[in-house]
Amino acid sequence: MSMQEDVTNEQTFDAIVIGSGISGGWAAKELCDHGLKTLVLERGRALKHGDYPTAMKNPWDFEHRGQMPKAELDANPILRKCYAFDEGTQHHFVRDDEHPYIQEKPFDWIRGYQEGGKSLIWARQTQRWSRFEFEAPQRDGFAVPWPINYNDIAPWYSHVEKFVGISGNRDGLENLPDSESLPAFEMNCAEKHIQEKILANYKDRPVVMGRCAHLTKPNEVHLQQGRGQCQARHLCYRGCPYGGHFSSNSATLPWARKTGNMTLRPDSVVHSIIYDDKKGKATGVRVVDANTKEMKEYYAKIIFVNAATLNTNLILLNSKSERFPNGLGNDNGLLGRYITFHNYRGRVYATLDGLEDQYYSGRRPTMVIMPSFRNVKKQEMKFKRGYLVAYTVDRAGWNRGSEKIGPELKNDMMKPGSWNVFMMMQGESIPKFENHVRLSPDQKDKWGIPQLITSVAYDENDDMLVQDFHEQATEMLEKAGCTNIFKEDTKQAPGLDIHEMGGVRMGSDPKTSLLNKWNQLHSCKNVFVTDGACMTSTGTQNPSLTFMAITARAASFAADEVKNGNLS
Ligand SMILES: Cc1cc2nc3c(=O)[nH]c(=O)nc-3n(C[C@H](O)[C@H](O)[C@H](O)COP(=O)(O)OP(=O)(O)OC[C@H]3O[C@@H](n4cnc5c(N)ncnc54)[C@H](O)[C@@H]3O)c2cc1C
Ligand code: SF4
Repeated sequence: MSMQEDVTNEQTFDAIVIGSGISGGWAAKELCDHGLKTLVLERGRALKHGDYPTAMKNPWDFEHRGQMPKAELDANPILRKCYAFDEGTQHHFVRDDEHPYIQEKPFDWIRGYQEGGKSLIWARQTQRWSRFEFEAPQRDGFAVPWPINYNDIAPWYSHVEKFVGISGNRDGLENLPDSESLPAFEMNCAEKHIQEKILANYKDRPVVMGRCAHLTKPNEVHLQQGRGQCQARHLCYRGCPYGGHFSSNSATLPWARKTGNMTLRPDSVVHSIIYDDKKGKATGVRVVDANTKEMKEYYAKIIFVNAATLNTNLILLNSKSERFPNGLGNDNGLLGRYITFHNYRGRVYATLDGLEDQYYSGRRPTMVIMPSFRNVKKQEMKFKRGYLVAYTVDRAGWNRGSEKIGPELKNDMMKPGSWNVFMMMQGESIPKFENHVRLSPDQKDKWGIPQLITSVAYDENDDMLVQDFHEQATEMLEKAGCTNIFKEDTKQAPGLDIHEMGGVRMGSDPKTSLLNKWNQLHSCKNVFVTDGACMTSTGTQNPSLTFMAITARAASFAADEVKNGNLS
C-alpha cells in the first residue's frame, strides 16, 4: 500500500538512486550531470570526504597497535576473515551482530554501510573486460548470452576511466584491453625477474602491472574534483585524505552535489519499491529511518537500484504488489537465482634467492597480473572458463623474527630478509540456478525487513580451477628459479572474495533474464539495476570498473528517456 495522497515537493524527484557506493555514486553523478533532480538514499551514516579519523595515525597511536582485540574478533566471526578489517578500518565495515542473515550454505557477506559504501574499503584493482568475457556464455554454453558486447561498453569504460583516474600501462593485450591510463606503478627487480622468466617460457602468458584507481599523475578533471596525487602509503582502507584513490566520497558524490541537483539522505533504509498496478510502473520507494524506524515514501520517474548485489536482490524480492507477488520484475521466478562470485581459493607462496643487494621504496597499492590464459578464445580445458593470476614479491621485514639474541639479533634485523613470493588466483565461477538468495519467511531485521537467506556454494568446476592454478603457478615459479614452493587451498566460503554478482541478470529474453540491454527490468521499464546484481557472468577481472561503466551507460540512456518523455 502506498501513502501517496499527501505527497510534498520534498518527497518528489526526477530520479531516485538506492545506495551511494561505487555504482550508486556513478548513477548519481550521471543523472545530476544530465539535469535530473536526484535523490540518493543511503542506509548508512553521512560520511563526507576527509572525515577519516584514522587516516594519519601511526601504528603506536592505536590502542591495540592496529590489531583487533580478541573480544571484537569473537563478536565478528565473518567480518574477521576479511583481510582489510583492523583497528584502523573497522568503522567502515558492517558488524556481523548488527546485520544478521541466514547462511543455508556458508557465505561470508562483507558489507560497508555508509555514505560511499564499499568505495572506501575496496582494493581499487580495475581491469577492463575484453570481448571474450562478453562472448563466453553463448560460446561456451553456460548462462544466457549477454545482451551487450565489448563495443557497447568500450566508450563507457573510457568515460569512467578518465574521471576515476586509472594507473596502468598500455599493454596492447587482446584479452585485457587498455584503459585510458595514468602512469603505471613499477615492478620491483624480483617481480621483473619472474616476469622475464614467464615471458621466456610461455607465449600466451603476458605479465603486466596491475591497473588500479590511483592518481599517479592527476589530470585537470581530478584536480577539479579536489583530489591529489597518490603518495603510495597504502593506508587506503582508512579513507584517503588526499583523494589519491577513487571513492564515491572523493569523486562522484561531491561532483553530483556541485550540480545542485543531488539530495543525499543518509540513515535511510530502503524497504521496497512501490509499484502502482494502475499506472503499470514503479512510482517510488518506501524508506525506514535507520534511527527512528519511521516509514516514509519518496517518489520519482525512474529508480536506480545500486544497493550492492545481495541487497539489491533483497529489495527487489521484498517489493511485492498484486502484479508482482514474488518480487518486482520476477515474472519468470529467476529473481535471486544465478548468484555467482570469484574463486579466490588458490594461493602459492615461494622464495626467490639472489638479488640480495637490491631493494624497493614505497608501498605500492597494486599487484603484478597475468590475464586469464585458459579457454580464452575457445573451450580447450576440461573445466569451463579460467582465472587471472596476480603476484607480488616483497622482502621480509624486521618483524620476521630471528633465533639470535642481543647485538646479533639487532644486526640481523637491520638487514632486509629474503624475497618472498605471493601468487593468487581470481577464478570465474559459473552461474548456476541452485546458487540463490531468498527472503526468510519469518525472520526480520531491526527495521522490519525480512532477513536474507544465502544458498551459494562451489562446484566441481571451481575445484578444477584451483587444481589447475596450483599446477601452473608451481610450474611458472619453478621456471623462475623459486624454491620453497607451498600451495594453499584456503577453502574459504564464497562471499569472502567480495565480488558477489548476479540474481537480476541481463539478457535479451524475458523468460530467462530480468534486465534488458539498458539494465531496465523487462517488465518494469522505469526501474534500472546497474550494480553487480545485473551481471550475467563474472569474467576473471575485478568487477567494479565494469559496474561503473554499465551504470554510466544506463544512466545516460535513462536521462534521455526521461527528457524524451518515454519514462515520465
Ligand atoms: C576489502 C575489499 C576489497 C575489494 N577490492 C576490489 C577491487 O580491487 N576491485 C574491484 O573491482 N572491487 C573490489 N571490491 C568490491 C567492491 O567494493 C564492490 O564491487 C563495489 O563496492 C560494489 O559497488 P556497489 O555500488 O554495488 O556497492 P557498494 O559500494 O557496497 O554500495 C552499496 C551501498 O548501498 C547501501 N545500501 C544497501 N542496502 C541499502 C538499502 N536497503 N537502502 C539504502 N541503501 C542501501 C550501502 O550502505 C552502500 O553504501 C572489494 C571490496 C572489499 C570490501
Ligand atoms: S596509497 Fe595513495 S590512495 Fe592510498 S592512502 Fe596513500 S595516498 Fe591515499
